[in-house]
Amino acid sequence: MRRPFIAGNWKMNLTKAEAIALAQAVAAKVGAGHAVEIAVCPPAVHLDAVAAVLKGTGVGIGAQNVYFQPNGAFTGELSVAMLVDLGVQYVILGHSERRRIMGETNEHVNAKLHAVLAGGLTPIVCVGETLDERTANKTEDIVQEQLAGSLAGITAEQAGRVVIAYEPVWAIGTGQVATKEQAEEVHAAARKMLAARFGETTAASIRIQYGGSVKPDNAADLLAQPNIDGALVGGASLKADSFLGIVAGVKL
Ligand code: PEP
Repeated sequence: MRRPFIAGNWKMNLTKAEAIALAQAVAAKVGAGHAVEIAVCPPAVHLDAVAAVLKGTGVGIGAQNVYFQPNGAFTGELSVAMLVDLGVQYVILGHSERRRIMGETNEHVNAKLHAVLAGGLTPIVCVGETLDERTANKTEDIVQEQLAGSLAGITAEQAGRVVIAYEPVWAIGTGQVATKEQAEEVHAAARKMLAARFGETTAASIRIQYGGSVKPDNAADLLAQPNIDGALVGGASLKADSFLGIVAGVKL
């Protein structure tokens, strides 16, 4: 069985005090031993403070990005070892904002993925099509290309430790959520692609989150789909009640 996994991507939001308060509120309401895996991904400058708040709680912590080199002259970047040192457990890779605004390619994502897996962290690899690509009927081609490129060179054992987030770019931060049918169709197709590459057993164990304007009022429908194993949540993760309202949408 795939354990449902809900992660909050706080993006470039919140002061340190706000981040601490939000982490405290989420942890207090979740309690320990929740059946759903839950994590928050604060801005890098707040990772240390938020990790301290979440230590020993049922809420994990993730980074929004990392660099693939272990150390050296890479101004402004952070290594996997630095994240491990802070108690980070997850890393979001290839978010569409990084692909689109920062010019990240599948090759970059792949180099980072290898570093993250080698460092023992759990990667959340984001894929998804733009509106133009969907309109041109290219959704599955794009997801295939991003999965193939981003996951290049990893073993089936490593693939079993990867979380995929299907995030249609047109649904991110727009309030325009994919219907449960649209999302399930792509999730099922993505799982087939993973099966072709890593085998049925591994593909059946990989969590595929949906991301794109998930809110408490649409979460339950999406999360009830057979191939949707959780959510990567942006805007609605910035308030404890709405984030936990999404967690409550998981049917256990
Ligand atoms: C995201 O950025 O990963 C995301 C899904 O954002 P939102 O929930 O705000 O659409």
